Amino acid sequence: MYVCNINMTTKLDIIPINQWMNDTDRPLIIAGPCSAESEEQVLSTARALATNSKVSVFRAGIWKPRTRPNYFEGIGEKGLNWLQKVKSETGLKTAIEVASPQHVEQSLKHEIDMLWLGARTVVNPFSVQEIVESLRGVDIPIIIKNPINPDLKLWVGAIERVHQMGIRKIIAVHRGFYALNHKQFRNPPMWELPIGLKRAIPDIPILVDPSHICGKTENIPHISQKAMDLEMDGLMIEVHHNPAEALSDANQQLTPKQLANLLDNLVIREKSGNKEFQDKLTELRTKIDEIDDDLLEILGKRMEVVKEIGSYKKDHHITILQLKRWSFIIENRLKTGINHGLEKQFLQNMLELIHTESMRLQTEILNS
Ligand code: PEP
Ligand code: MN
Repeated sequence: MYVCNINMTTKLDIIPINQWMNDTDRPLIIAGPCSAESEEQVLSTARALATNSKVSVFRAGIWKPRTRPNYFEGIGEKGLNWLQKVKSETGLKTAIEVASPQHVEQSLKHEIDMLWLGARTVVNPFSVQEIVESLRGVDIPIIIKNPINPDLKLWVGAIERVHQMGIRKIIAVHRGFYALNHKQFRNPPMWELPIGLKRAIPDIPILVDPSHICGKTENIPHISQKAMDLEMDGLMIEVHHNPAEALSDANQQLTPKQLANLLDNLVIREKSGNKEFQDKLTELRTKIDEIDDDLLEILGKRMEVVKEIGSYKKDHHITILQLKRWSFIIENRLKTGINHGLEKQFLQNMLELIHTESMRLQTEILNS
């Protein structure tokens, strides 16, 4: 379990997407192959995407960060010419990943419209700084993916570095976080992090990349809908004209038709409703506020009793961790909680947090 406890709010003057992208209301859709592989693959995918009015930006990796050597590492600079063709032929904007000042220079020379910093770059402040220095004075939208590890401060830091160079067209992309042997996702979404980012930088638009979160196609529509329901501002999705033959990330790329289907079925809910809706919502939120007050008061009372127990144990030279008692609590509270309609996993997480805090309090008393 990850608790996202960044306590800062940074006011960055970021320009809303719809003020610099024509005809784009929420959601912004960026789509295209994981990698540019051949002129034919790039153009045929782009032509298919251009028939979909919901897609505004064509993405393609030109230089690919591969975990191990001897895999396809991207087509390199000649792919930039193909992207220029995409732009002139289809009118789609183009976006690629840059991982060095040389990549930036070549991209600018070929009039790429947007650049993104990948998850492997954002973990390294040296790389981020080097890249942003090469962007000084350049007015180009920059997309910042989250770092591979669930560290909100690194993500915020990369955004701040870009902003410090005077860039105001900034978008964050949530592509999930590394977890060892996760069964359901390639990179579990850990939604509390992008939500934490919104809290930390309220003006930052966030797109979700369900392709790298899922790692396979089947969950992509579900994660895309969830992104919309959480008020995210758009999607970055990998699309290939023939996914089975893709040279990278073959399992997670949709066909243009599958993307069209996904976008047609996406339900975009309003961010806020009419007065009647707002009144009812206020009433329910007031109830929640009162319940939270009660919960916190009770939790405070519980910790006071924990401290009393701690002193009592200390006076009698008894150890803090009493496994039998703890096992009893888990079993008993799980039963009670489930009877109250609560989920087992939620109860386990919550009980663990309470137990950790109780142990910490008792250790403090023991050492005092
Ligand atoms: C990509 O978008 O193809 C990519 C390499 O993504 P990430 O940096 O999120 O792994
Ligand atoms: Mn990819």
